[in-house]
Amino acid sequence: METTLILLKPDCITGRKAGEVFKRFEDAGFQIRGCKMFRADAGLLREHYAHIATKPFFPEVEAFMTASPVIALALSGENAVERIRELLGPTDSTKAAKGTIRGDFGQTVMKNIAHASDTRENAEIELKRFFKPDEIFDYAMSL
Ligand code: ADP
Repeated sequence: METTLILLKPDCITGRKAGEVFKRFEDAGFQIRGCKMFRADAGLLREHYAHIATKPFFPEVEAFMTASPVIALALSGENAVERIRELLGPTDSTKAAKGTIRGDFGQTVMKNIAHASDTRENAEIELKRFFKPDEIFDYAMSL
């Protein structure tokens, strides 16, 4: 069982696709263990996107990511990190296969609906970045 960090980006929120994306994750068997809406600030984004902070397109990404609030999710399930990246599809929505979240709802390489942690190590770091310990819940996964 793994837990991974998802961010529903402003194109997902303003495009009213959050419900569809939640449904994809739940239909695939993932459990919501944390969920919060907030507006990302520049400092948080620079930390989260440190690996692209020197790229020429970073200012555009920063403006995009602060254009509306985002929703952070902590999702648990078997092989969650890898399987959720598969459900998302590749970074560039225009190259993502139909049937993937980015292929079905994304518009461009930047407007690609959601972020998902790419490794277990990064999932641990990113969950701590976006959630306090008591905002991630342990509970029986069936009633
Ligand atoms: P991923 O989100 O698939 O892990 P990256 O970590 O490489 O991809 O990039 C972070 C985010 O930056 C992407 O999800 C996308 O929103 C944006 N991005 C990446 N490459 C570009 C680009 N060439 N032009 C504009 N935005 C980009």
